[in-house]
This record gives sequence, C-alpha cells and structure tokens, in this order.
Amino acid sequence: MRQHNGLPRNSSAQPCPGKVFFVGAGPGDPGLVTLRGVHCLRQADLVLYDYLVNALVLRHSPPSAEMVGLGHHATKTIDQEAINRLMIEAAWAGKTVVRLKGGDPMVFGRSAEEIQAIESAGVPFEIVPGVTAATAAAAYTGISITHADYSSAVALVTGQERHSKGAPPLDYAALARFPGTVVFYMGVTSAARWSQAMLREGKPAETPVAIVRRCSWTDQSTYRCTLATVAETIAAENIRPPAVILVGEVVAHAGRDSWFTQRPLFGQRILVTRPRQQVEAFADLLADYGAEVLVQPAIEIADPHDWTPVDRALGRLDEYDWVVFSSANGVNRFLDRLPRLGRDLRALAPVKLAAIGPGTAEALAAYRLRADLVPEQYRAEALAEALVEQAPGRRFLLVRASRGREVLAERLAAAGGAVEQVVAYQSLDVAQPDPDIAAALRDGRIDWITVTSSAIAKSLGRLFGDDLRRAKLASISPITSETLRSLGYAPAVEATEYTMNGLAAAILASVVT
Ligand code: SAH
Repeated sequence: MRQHNGLPRNSSAQPCPGKVFFVGAGPGDPGLVTLRGVHCLRQADLVLYDYLVNALVLRHSPPSAEMVGLGHHATKTIDQEAINRLMIEAAWAGKTVVRLKGGDPMVFGRSAEEIQAIESAGVPFEIVPGVTAATAAAAYTGISITHADYSSAVALVTGQERHSKGAPPLDYAALARFPGTVVFYMGVTSAARWSQAMLREGKPAETPVAIVRRCSWTDQSTYRCTLATVAETIAAENIRPPAVILVGEVVAHAGRDSWFTQRPLFGQRILVTRPRQQVEAFADLLADYGAEVLVQPAIEIADPHDWTPVDRALGRLDEYDWVVFSSANGVNRFLDRLPRLGRDLRALAPVKLAAIGPGTAEALAAYRLRADLVPEQYRAEALAEALVEQAPGRRFLLVRASRGREVLAERLAAAGGAVEQVVAYQSLDVAQPDPDIAAALRDGRIDWITVTSSAIAKSLGRLFGDDLRRAKLASISPITSETLRSLGYAPAVEATEYTMNGLAAAILASVVT
C-alpha cells in the first residue's frame, strides 16, 4: 500500500476487498430506516455514525461491529481527513464499513466530500437513501409540502451558508419569489438572518411558517408562526436544533394536530421491566400507541442450577396426568430440553397440558401444542380451582421458576392430587440499574413503570427504593399490586385482564380519561 493524497491506496492491480456503504438512518423514528440500510448494518464490521442517528437504528449491526460515534461537532473536532482515512483503511483491510448519516446521506449530509475521497482511494461504495427531515416533517405533522392548490414546488435550503467555500450565496430574491414551499434545514440559530432577507426581498410577512423540532422522535414538537415572527418564536419558545422550518401556504392548510402526536400515549415515557428476552413484543405494543419506551429489566432468566429433575421428568411423562405451566419461560425452557435428551414432542403424548394464561398458551402454540386448560382468570388460584375437581388420585407435574407462589401445588395436594414440581429456570434479580434510567427516574422524567410480576415488584424496590414513587406504577394483577403495597408503593393503575395487552389498556384508559 502506498500513500495517495495522504490516504492509503493499493499500488497493485488488486481490487479493494472491502466496501463502504453510505446509509441514511432516517430522521429519528427507528422504523424509518430502509430494508437495504438494515441489510448493510447487519453486515457491518465498522459503523461510523452521526450524532443525530437514533441509537435504536445502531442495534441492527452485529455485536462484533466496531461502533464509532462522531460527536455533535464531528466535522469540526474530528477532522474529516481522519474519518476518511478510517473508512479507507478499514475497506482495504477487507471490512464492510457503514457510514450512517441522519436523514438522507445526499441531503445536507456532507457526503460528497467523503464519497470523493473514497472513490479516489479505489474503494467501492454504495449509497442507500434515507427519509430526509423535510419529507418526514411533512408526514409526521400532516403538512403536505406540495399541494394541488398552493404549492407546485419545494426548495430545500440551508440556513448555514458556507461563504468561504466556493458555493454561490443564497439568492434571497429568487427564494422570496419561489412558487412553492421553502424548507429550511439548519435554520434555527440563523432564523433572524434568513427571515429578514426573505422579507426584504418581498416575501409577505404573514406567510405561514411551521417550525418542526425533532420530527418523528417521541418528543416531536411543532410551532406555528409567520415569516415575520419566526425568529421571535424561536427565542420565546427557546427552540433548539434540530428543526426544519416549513415556509409557505401549505402550512395554513393542514390540521393543527398530527396523527403522530395524537396517538394516545404520545409524550408518555414508560419503563418496561420484564426480562430482556421478553421485552420486545410489549415494548412494540406501547410504542405503537405512541409511547417512548425505556427498558430496564428487573429480573433475568437463567438456567436452573440443576437440570436433572427436569430431564428425569421428561423421561417419564407417562407417569403424569397433567403438566402445568405457569409461564411462557417455563414452556420454552422445559420443551427446549427435549432435543438435548434425544427426544421430541411426542414425549408429551400421554399428558394433558394446562397453561396459567394466554401468554403461556401462546408459548405452547408456538410448538404447535394446544393447552387443554386455560383458566378464565389468569392466576394460580383460578388454575387450581379449575383442576381441583379432578385432582384426587391424579398426578401433576408443575413446571415453574426457582421462585414463585406455592398456592397451586398446595391446593392440588390438599385436593388429593400427587404433585411434583420441577424448576425449569431461575429468575434472578438484576443487581444494578442502568445509571441513565436511574437518573431519569430520579429527575421525574419517567411517567410510568410497568410492573408485570411480584418478583419484578420486589426487585424494582431493591433497584430504585424511594425513587419508585416518582413514576406511576402500572400493575398487571391484584397479586402484583398486593406485593407493591406490602413494599410501601401504591399502584396507580391495575390491569383488569392480567396480560400485557391488559396492562397497556389500563395505562391507556388512565391517560385518555
Ligand atoms: N441529512 C439530513 C440533514 C442533515 S443537516 C437529512 O436528510 O435530514 C441537519 C439538519 O437536518 C438539522 O439542523 C435539521 O434542520 C434537520 N433535521 C435532521 N433531523 C431532524 C429531525 N428529526 N427533525 C427536524 N429536523 C431535523
């Protein structure tokens, strides 16, 4: 390799073994990255990302990938040469590099300079577009930037001109006459300058303006004003970047509230505390209602100390009448042992299956197994109730966690059943909270904490102590509420159906009324 313009380049005829992908991460909402962008991130060995990029988008890269964050003033502090060199060296070393940029890489993304460096170093590259802030702001506020009656063109304009570098200065006379919507990027701190210039060139003072801050993020906000008042609005409301500023008649012809901010849980910050493996579906459900979801598992799921009792039970299932599952974790851990023992689901043929609730039944269904019994109320008492009648003389295998309630075993035994319990997983308290989450709670920045079991309630008490009172506690069931109260914490809402859906519904009901 020899140096070319100070950058590494292979002198032999060999092609560069790696590649650089310029990928648009979208404006904020992690769902707005393209499938192609996700595909690139999944292959990445090195990811260089801008500060505006949502951390949730970074999660598509494998854990082995090296992640380099370029801070707020990246182009000023880490010099552009160093960024280019990093990408070029990595590509020549055979790595797949993703240069992840906010919005679209080709719109005010300073990509042209980087692409030129990559190209002249003989490194192959591709560009993956993203949703740019202007169109995202249009969609997430409901302000259509083109309109059959009011706007036949759109101009994307920077509020930060670089007079020093060759580009011609903005022609405000032309912009003032522009027959359509003008969208200013990077125009917050420079608003006085560009709005004055437009007014001076004859753009009407009453031209409607929308300042859209952090569009598509869970704290999106929109401010309406006019061209004459845009600078004073920014000062009065203390609006900070990033924001795009839409200038034009279209702003006056859209509803004041958008579908995005009208979603019922918009603006609510909710902490989900389930074990890491079970967070996703519940977090998605809350996010779909518009909530900002933070995650702090209060317990984690681990293998039991000893598999022998489970393995032994699996080896002689014909000795039981019922196998009773009290959690989805129990189902998964128990059934996933079968192949390790050289067996399959046919081992379950002799027994009936009971599930404590729909989540547990669903876990069985994922194995194509139908629960013979799901009680009407999703709690141990109701399950016991449903089984006691046939308990005398019957043999029950209860598949459970290392800790949990004894009520089911006790009732079945008292009713004359033969009960055996096996521990299919341990539920362990998480020792330390994430410091950012702890700080957010302490500062009152978390609205809700979801409490989805008694074990979680107890662990939360240990993790956060008195700070737990700084958020509203959403309890999944009367049992969980009881545990919370015994620890000195009053739940704000309690689910009437003891499921994740039921808990989301309880939060919704309390927010909407
Ligand atoms: N390549 C980006 C723009 C980068 S320049 C894109 O295509 O969107 C940075 C400017 O983009 C910010 O100053 C702001 O004007 C705008 N911007 C980026 N993300 C934004 C967001 N979520 N909401 C509003 N404006 C945003």
